[in-house]
Amino acid sequence: MAQPRVVTIHYTLTNDQGEQLDTSREEGREPLSYVEGAQNIIGGLENALVEKAAGDKLKVDIEPAEGYGEINEELVQPVPRSAFEGVDSIEPGMQFQAQTPGGPQVVRVVEVGDENVTIDANHPLAGETLHFDVEVVEAREATDEETEHGHVH
Ligand code: ZN
Repeated sequence: MAQPRVVTIHYTLTNDQGEQLDTSREEGREPLSYVEGAQNIIGGLENALVEKAAGDKLKVDIEPAEGYGEINEELVQPVPRSAFEGVDSIEPGMQFQAQTPGGPQVVRVVEVGDENVTIDANHPLAGETLHFDVEVVEAREATDEETEHGHVH
């Protein structure tokens, strides 16, 4: 297999409604670097950048399956309020780290009832079609150590 590359990009991410969800182009942000094949970024975006070189600009539309997945209704479920012992006030939109059989998972509070709190463990961008506006800033061969570690040094 060819040596993977370290690719550095500027990106702006919008959803179907045209709302900006994230951008590397605002003040104080650095462009994003990733090691190819190391699952540092979502697969759909990495695939679109495989043949790209520094200076290339492109727009990439990514369906949920290639992005953060479809919304799984089974991940939306009530838990007893007592599970939030020690939390003064629970409000919709709050995020918690929960321990699950699959490892730590961020869950969001969607509804607060008298006895139960409804939580959603889907990725916040699950179900969204993602629209990336990307510019490749740099692309170079990864070092052996970066390839081994799966992240950029
Ligand atoms: Zn390392």
